[in-house]
Amino acid sequence: MPESLPESLKQKISDRLRFYEDIGVGQFYRDRASVLQADEPQATAAIPPTIPQVQEPSLPKRDSKPSQPVQTPMVSARKIEPLRADTGLSLFETKIENDTLLKIREDLGDCKRCRLHKTRHNIVFGDGNPNAELVFVGEGPGADEDEQGLPFVGRAGKLLTQMIEAMGLQRKNVYICNVVKCRPPQNRQPEHDEVAECSPFLFRQIDTIAPKVIVCLGATAAQTILQTNRGISHFRGEWQEFRGRKLIATYHPAYLLRNPAAKSEVWRDLQKVMAELGLQVKKGKPS
Ligand code: URA
Repeated sequence: MPESLPESLKQKISDRLRFYEDIGVGQFYRDRASVLQADEPQATAAIPPTIPQVQEPSLPKRDSKPSQPVQTPMVSARKIEPLRADTGLSLFETKIENDTLLKIREDLGDCKRCRLHKTRHNIVFGDGNPNAELVFVGEGPGADEDEQGLPFVGRAGKLLTQMIEAMGLQRKNVYICNVVKCRPPQNRQPEHDEVAECSPFLFRQIDTIAPKVIVCLGATAAQTILQTNRGISHFRGEWQEFRGRKLIATYHPAYLLRNPAAKSEVWRDLQKVMAELGLQVKKGKPS
């Protein structure tokens, strides 16, 4: 985008391009193209206008973390077309024994592995309960997150917080992180090489937290973790398996801000997650 355009106009153009991408109209500019192509369809369901605040966490507490990932039988999980043979560890990856979030953060350091470091203000590593049973993974920090160094604290983040609370949880009960830890300029999608540099840290985060359920928010998170280029609409709301854990992809809260009609689909996905975690599932829309 030309530098001379006013910021407000740039933002409008960027929002409009995102909208076109959401509804499946192809890439307009090369620098917006991601190898991990977004494929969130325009949704038509009824609008739950707000997701209200619901009290108190009730995630069952775990005494200790199993040293090996639990291989839960995945009755309803369906494998999607992966780019690699499966979504377990590849020949080139090893699971780091006794890894911790602190070690991962230290290894990330003052990261300059990709170009995103040049424009970031803060690395947004992740936030929440290091023993969470539920991990949310987004795409990458936006302006507010870049400023505060925390994930999902802007408008989309406020919606995510409402969604978490509607599930009967609080943000501090879950863990929230992103595929890339630095803000892509103009909130563009992260490029393939940026994702390649950053995603090993995400995989370590997931391995060390060892959650029961991973919720991918949007196509970038889902496609990165599942190593697929299939559009999210093909597998949204269906249980998948990632290294022996249950994973579900749903729409990104930023998409819901632009397409509130899709909220009911997301709520249905989250109800599946609640059932899996033994949380009380409320019928219908959150009230
Ligand atoms: N969008 C994301 O994907 N992640 C954030 O942290 C904020 C907005």
